[in-house]
Order: sequence, then structure tokens, then C-alpha cells
Amino acid sequence: MNGEVDHSPTITLAQNDAVLIAQRLRENGRLGMALPAFDEDPGYTDFERASWETAHRFARDVMRPAGVALDKLNAADVIAAKSILWDVFAKHRELGLDALDADSDMPPQERARLRCIVGEEMGWGDSGLAIALGVAAFPAMMAQMSGNPALCERFPQGTLGCWAITEPDHGSDFIDFNGVLRQAGGHSNKPNCVARRDGNHFVITGQKSAWVSNGTIAQAAALFCAVDMGDGRPGNAVFVVPLNEGGVTRGKPTDKIGQRPLNQGEIFFEDLRVSADCMVAPPEAYRAVTDQVLSLANASMGTTFVGCARAALDLALDYAKTRIQGDVPIFAHQSVKARLFRMFRSVEAARALNQRVTRINATRVTPLLELAIASKVTSTQAAFDVASDALQLFGGAGISRDCPIEKIFRDARISMIEDGCNEVLGMAAAARF
Ligand SMILES: Cc1cc2nc3c(=O)[nH]c(=O)nc-3n(C[C@H](O)[C@H](O)[C@H](O)COP(=O)(O)OP(=O)(O)OC[C@H]3O[C@@H](n4cnc5c(N)ncnc54)[C@H](O)[C@@H]3O)c2cc1C
Repeated sequence: MNGEVDHSPTITLAQNDAVLIAQRLRENGRLGMALPAFDEDPGYTDFERASWETAHRFARDVMRPAGVALDKLNAADVIAAKSILWDVFAKHRELGLDALDADSDMPPQERARLRCIVGEEMGWGDSGLAIALGVAAFPAMMAQMSGNPALCERFPQGTLGCWAITEPDHGSDFIDFNGVLRQAGGHSNKPNCVARRDGNHFVITGQKSAWVSNGTIAQAAALFCAVDMGDGRPGNAVFVVPLNEGGVTRGKPTDKIGQRPLNQGEIFFEDLRVSADCMVAPPEAYRAVTDQVLSLANASMGTTFVGCARAALDLALDYAKTRIQGDVPIFAHQSVKARLFRMFRSVEAARALNQRVTRINATRVTPLLELAIASKVTSTQAAFDVASDALQLFGGAGISRDCPIEKIFRDARISMIEDGCNEVLGMAAAARF
């Protein structure tokens, strides 16, 4: 072979096997922190650091593997009695991650920082599961917002909840309170779900959309719907209602391309009768309360998808340093480094905006919804762009169902529709300028 080039094939059967690539990355512990996130930020307290460590371990050791396993199941099996989904909910509670910011004496700025630190890790672990864990708290949160002790007792923290707002005929409409996005001559369709006042009760009839997160498993709902107070005036109101006491049936769990560990589905109300105190925001407060909740939800989406974008970047960087082509790791190529830098910049910019928005809104009586929307749209777009770039960097290995990046790509894609289509949210935000 002296001086000759050896053209004989090197047969490494598993060389391009995405399963082994993913396994190797995991064994190397490289699904951990490849890039500065928490560690580089100065000034965090011991409590914040400990919370981050707990959240990161939970994201890495519980959410990540559970998310990958649940992604492969059909929508009905995701919620089966023996599903690992229930272990995720249980462990989250056991570690106290659902109540980290529950101390009402915690200064708002600290609460804002904690939400960003923990929320990003949840999104890094698995974005669909992060949404399931986050939205589960909505009914308890609305009960607390009402200040009614009986309601707080009935819907305590730990209740598995959902946020039922969109309807088959009202998706984008739900953020268009005053019709600014409506076409000339257009008018809103009839509501699909109505709560009718009946003495000291409300009777709820109709349905919510197939997209309600935790919709077919929730024990309670934060229900945003049309209300008939008996005075002939159209309006909306917010209720906290039980979903497991009769008068309620569920649709089939929705099968979808991304965030498959997140259960979604319709809720049907068949004359559900609830006491009048279940109404936590009457028609005159609906707009203000919905603004508050949308501001919180959009900012939380912003945090979750910073984490999702970072997960894609971590995987891409690890792969670039280990994948050999032309005898060198592909990281050696300038264009690969340039692509990684663009991805890094997107993650850092989305995180910086999200932290600013969360901090500002934490101290305002009336949060700035347009800021929260800016964060949601920026983070979800960043997650999709970074995941798409990462998938490109993985080459053929990236499109295999066994490679973790294709799942993150699908998860990120649907985030641009989740909690409002990004383009509609953008117009709604701009209408407030
Ligand atoms: C992963 C996920 C989780 C979700 N979780 C929940 C939940 O927990 N609770 C809940 O109630 N809902 C939930 N949703 C529903 C979600 O909020 C809606 O899907 C979203 O608001 C869009 O509504 P739609 O699907 O009816 O689309 P449509 O409103 O029908 O929109 C369809 C298309 O038309 C465009 N369009 C609509 N109106 C306008 C307009 N005025 N101007 C310009 N373009 C317009 C949109 O941009 C979009 O491209 C979830 C959705 C997803 C994907």
C-alpha cells in the first residue's frame, strides 16, 4: 500500500445509524449543558440555583426519556392507565416543581426569574410535556385569582386542569375581542359553548375545540365561554368547573404531528350545572382577565420554546463535533460553525427578550400583552428555525425517527399555532400600539 490511497471501503455497519448516534450522545452525557445557560448568569440566589438543578435533572432524567417514549405511542396509549405520562406528573409534584413560586410573599422579580429558570428547563426536557404540566395549574390559579376560599378548596393546587377557550368555530377569534382583525362586513359566528344563568347556578352546554391541552384527562377546566345572564346582552365570562362529576363527556385524544406527549381533545358539556360562584370573571371583567391570562400564557410559551430551541442547538453542536466527514469533524468546516453561531444567536436573543418580558409584566397590575406576544412569537419561530438548522446539520441521520432532532423539529413546528397562530397574534399585538 506504500504511497497508494486505500480505496477499500471501511465497513462500519452502524456508522450512519441514527439510533447509535443518539445512544452515543446520551452515553457521553452530552444531552446535558453544552452551552452556557444558567451557569453564566451572575447574581442568582442559592434557592434559584438549587431550583435550576432540580429542574434540569427532572428535565434530563424524567421528561426527556418519557417524551421520546410517549412520542412513539398513539394518542390513546399516551393517556392509558399504565402510561409513563402519569409518572411525569407525579414526579413533578413530588419534587415540588409545581409549587416553587407558590410563596405569596416572594417578590415579583424573584418569581419572574424563577419562572424563566425552571420553565426553560421544562421546555428543554420536552416541550409537549412542559405545556401539559404548565396548563394543568390553570383551574387552581383561576380559583386563587377569585379570592374565594371555597373555590380554592374545591380546586386546590395539584388538580389536573386545562384551559378551555377555543371552540370549533372560534380559534383565532378568541384573541380578537373588539373585532380589529375581522374583515369588513364580517361578524363572529354563534358561540359553540354557552353558560346560561339559572338562579344561583349556571347551566353549561356546548363544546370546546379538539385542541384543548389536557382536554381528555383534566379533572377541572378554566372555562372561557359565552354567557347568557338573562338580560339579553351577549358577553363572555370565565368559570372554573369540574369535569369529572357528570354533565361532561370527552372527545377522542387528538392525533397530531408534534408535541405528541401532550394530550389534547374536545370537551362536551351536556347541561353541566355549577353553582354561581364558579364564575370567576363576570362579563364586565372578561377582557381584563383574559388579557392577564393571555399575557401569562404567551410569556410561558416564550420560556418553554427558548428551552426547546436550546435543546436543538445542544444536539447540533454535539453532533457537529462527533460526526466525521473527510477525516475531520464537520465542526471544522467554516459554514458549519457559521450555522451554529446563527442558531446560538437566536437562542440567546429569544431568552433575553423572554426574561425582559417576564420581568416587566411581573411588576405591572395590567401586563403588556403585546410584549408577551412578542416573546411567544420570537421564541417559537426561533425554536422552529434552530430545529430546522439542526436537522440540516444532522444530514440523513436527522430524518430518522430514532434521532432526537426530528421530534424537536415537529414539536417546534406546532408551537407556531399553539395558543394562537403567530401571524394572528402579531396583528393583535400591533393593534394595541
Ligand atoms: C399544540 C396546541 C395546543 C393548544 N392548546 C390549547 C388549549 O390548551 N386550549 C385551547 O382552548 N386551545 C388550544 N389550542 C388551540 C389554538 O389556540 C388554536 O389552534 C389557534 O388559536 C388557532 O385557531 P384555529 O386552529 O381555529 O385556526 P383558525 O383560527 O381557523 O386559523 C386558520 C388560519 O387562518 C388564519 N386566520 C384566521 N383568522 C385570521 C385573521 N383575522 N386574519 C388573518 N389570518 C387569519 C390563521 O392565521 C391560520 O393560518 C392549541 C393548539 C395547539 C396547536
